[in-house]
Amino acid sequence: MSDERLVLMRGDITQVQADAIVNAANSALCGGGGVDGAIHRAAGPGLLAECRTLGRCPPGEARITGGHGLPARHVIHAVGPVWQGGGSGEETLLARCYWRAFSLMEQHGLGTIAFPSISTGAYGYPIERASRVALREILSALERMPTLQRVTVVLFSDRDLDVYQRARQALGNG
Ligand code: ADP
Repeated sequence: MSDERLVLMRGDITQVQADAIVNAANSALCGGGGVDGAIHRAAGPGLLAECRTLGRCPPGEARITGGHGLPARHVIHAVGPVWQGGGSGEETLLARCYWRAFSLMEQHGLGTIAFPSISTGAYGYPIERASRVALREILSALERMPTLQRVTVVLFSDRDLDVYQRARQALGNG
């Protein structure tokens, strides 16, 4: 059955209004390229200053900060795995990023969240595989968390959106 609380869209996550947007961060939490760079540019220097107080964040873990200059109230910095061929626990680590983000939402009483496609840029995780992991974790969170009002996945290209839409259909949620 299709869950209307799950929205797949093409767009720029820095412009999304939500209780939290998720950053595909690196372990140093110091900004970088891709979506990480875009979020830090849009949020302004206060975000980096706050990240510097948090120390390192290992792959599969997440940390929460304020949204600073973003329309979103918070940023959840999740560190995805670097793809190494699939035999190094990448799937478990990627799933854990989503799981940890939802735990932080629960702890902070947040209802709406937007994710980018974690690990599928510079970290090289094949997007067909990553989309299945992401959507499985999101749908399971929607099932067990009645406080979740909306989960948006913001894809940066039409092709990526298409991949996620197909994966959603394959999971019987299209
Ligand atoms: P990672 O290092 O986890 O692979 P990247 O930022 O390199 O992170 O890529 C993750 C995904 O985010 C890619 O699919 C990339 O196209 C996408 N992306 C880049 N900029 C944005 C943005 N402003 N909004 C949403 N997604 C973005």
